[in-house]
Amino acid sequence: MSETIVKVKEMSVYYGGVNALSDINLEVKKGDFLGIIGPNGGGKSTLLKAVLGLVPLNTGEVRIFGEKPEKARNKTGYVPQYIGLDKSFPVTVNEVVLTGRLKPGIKPFFRYSKSDREAVDEILSKVGIHALSKRRISELSGGEFQKMLIARALVSRPELLLLDEPTASVDARSREQIYSLLSELNKDMTIILVTHDLFAVSTQVKSLACLNTNLVYHGKPELNESIVHNLYGCPVDLIAHGVPHRVLGEHEHGDCGGSIC
Ligand code: ADP
Ligand code: MG
Repeated sequence: MSETIVKVKEMSVYYGGVNALSDINLEVKKGDFLGIIGPNGGGKSTLLKAVLGLVPLNTGEVRIFGEKPEKARNKTGYVPQYIGLDKSFPVTVNEVVLTGRLKPGIKPFFRYSKSDREAVDEILSKVGIHALSKRRISELSGGEFQKMLIARALVSRPELLLLDEPTASVDARSREQIYSLLSELNKDMTIILVTHDLFAVSTQVKSLACLNTNLVYHGKPELNESIVHNLYGCPVDLIAHGVPHRVLGEHEHGDCGGSIC
């Protein structure tokens, strides 16, 4: 039986009066590639933040590598959906990715080490953006910007990677490159991916969770009628026709208007 990397037990999260997550139970094993789908406002981003210990829980608990999330930060990489970084700020790709090496409690006059800089070089090459190292972030395309955020998340060499809609506004080629990178990384890294992209659901993930305040489904990534129904209101980027994909559950075309089957 493989090791449990993430365990969420009876977790609820409220923002004031808004119930974002209700009674969530979830277990993610080592080596898994879990996709999380669900309608907008369904609590997907909140679930990732709760797993990272970035939002307070109202009930329940989260353990990563058997520890409280705060203690497992050095083993966890995170690509947020919205980044609190002004894109016109005059920093380079290299400088942003270096911040992924920062550890809590850094002192004044802190300087990055040689190994920090080497780690950045290595990861920029791996993610395929080494040539952009000195480029200002204002001069990046959507796909290049996302790759930079992925590099920043990876530069601390995490064992668990959480990504929140990393392909939402990227071109088709970058999207393919990102998925191919994630497949490669998944050989020795556990991945949790929030996505609206049916291509990722049908070809990338090993297991699937559907979230709409409650966890509606958690299992194999074979969409059946009830899951598709629960995704109503969830924009899907790609129709699965013609690409290698897992077959959606048997159902009448009328049930989905023939659009995603
Ligand atoms: P998703 O990522 O699935 O779109 P979110 O986790 O962002 O969903 O949001 C879940 C719910 O919580 C929504 O109703 C959203 O409006 C609310 N919410 C999210 N973040 C905050 C916040 N910082 N303050 C108040 N409400 C929030
Ligand atoms: Mg979100």
